[in-house]
Amino acid sequence: MKTLDSKELFYAFSADAKPLMTVAQGESFALETRDCFSNQLCSDEDTVDTLDWNDINPATGPVEIQGVRTGDIVRFDIEKLEMTGKSVMITLPGSGALGGISQTTTRVLDNEDGVLTLPTEKGVLKLPLKPMIGVIGVSPAEGSIPTGTPDTHGGNMDCTKIGQGASLFLKAAVDGAMFGCGDVHALMGDGEVLVCGAETPARVTVSARAIAARELPTPFLETEDQYIAIASAETVDKATEDATENMFRFLTDIAGLSEGDAGRLMTLVGNVMICQIVDPQKTARFEFPKAVLAELGFAGIE
Ligand code: CA
Ligand code: ZN
Repeated sequence: MKTLDSKELFYAFSADAKPLMTVAQGESFALETRDCFSNQLCSDEDTVDTLDWNDINPATGPVEIQGVRTGDIVRFDIEKLEMTGKSVMITLPGSGALGGISQTTTRVLDNEDGVLTLPTEKGVLKLPLKPMIGVIGVSPAEGSIPTGTPDTHGGNMDCTKIGQGASLFLKAAVDGAMFGCGDVHALMGDGEVLVCGAETPARVTVSARAIAARELPTPFLETEDQYIAIASAETVDKATEDATENMFRFLTDIAGLSEGDAGRLMTLVGNVMICQIVDPQKTARFEFPKAVLAELGFAGIE
């Protein structure tokens, strides 16, 4: 399988990105990813004071998807998501949404046998892993967007639903799409309030192909049981409104519901959820159950 090493990385999704690997549509490929601190924190004694802040949020790639043209909607199937090292977490005064935190700490944590082992001062917790990809995206139409920032191209969305088995739909803004990902978390809660989850190096196996649909509001996610519209904006308010609007467009334009039916169903069985509230733009999602659409005869996105 074609594989990119974690040294083959970038720090901004760019319109003029040059591919480090080219794959065919439908071909499985693997990306080895570093954690969001670029694997710089190896023990509890390595604090953020020694961190090179220029080497943060690396994404592995870019990968060119052969035959994908500007404007195509590309489906990225996340076939496998494997942890390849321990997890690390930091606390930093004023970090994330916890302005009141005063301790600078690093914790390197075991993530074997399906659990994150978290020593606390009141005992050791074993927390079930829920691996997810924090940074995942394609080149924007123009300029460059740091890997730490989420937007319509994807990027640092920190969406807990982007895990193994999920399919992420993104719009190619340049030929070949120029895909990359990184910032895998072994476990994270919605919000990412500390500005980190259990940051973990990983191996991500993906396949990608352009789909026939042209109007899908992206980024869009399909999981085993949900359709999910994802949006990022300057405020959480705006991100939730955009995600909601995008789901409404999906239900009316793609799934063929009337506006009234879409609105009723969204308010009855749809959920507005927060992805993260700590990045340069905030990210929200709107989740809608696939089973409801299947019952109404919707056969799927393609
Ligand atoms: Ca992140
Ligand atoms: Zn992260």
